[in-house]
Amino acid sequence: MKVTQPKVPFCQSCGMPMGRPEDFGANDDGLKNNDYCHFCFKEGKFTEPNITLDKMINKVTDFLVQLRHMTEVEAGQLAQSFIPKLKRWRG
Ligand SMILES: [Zn+2]
Repeated sequence: MKVTQPKVPFCQSCGMPMGRPEDFGANDDGLKNNDYCHFCFKEGKFTEPNITLDKMINKVTDFLVQLRHMTEVEAGQLAQSFIPKLKRWRG
């Protein structure tokens, strides 16, 4: 049996999967931005332009604890393993 998993793009700032058109951020011309989600990117700008990598990791950790019911340690490890690899943070 072959299991095909559709590849969902994910935000290159916070790692959120973007499965629906409304999950994507928007450029200043109103067109969707394929790299970032609507939490991170609106009207062509980052919503929190000065957020640091550490702060983003903390934010995503809280998110995972609440939404995925992970422990804080598990969520923290997961966030630290993938957030620094995203386009926004690779420098
Ligand atoms: Zn995002």
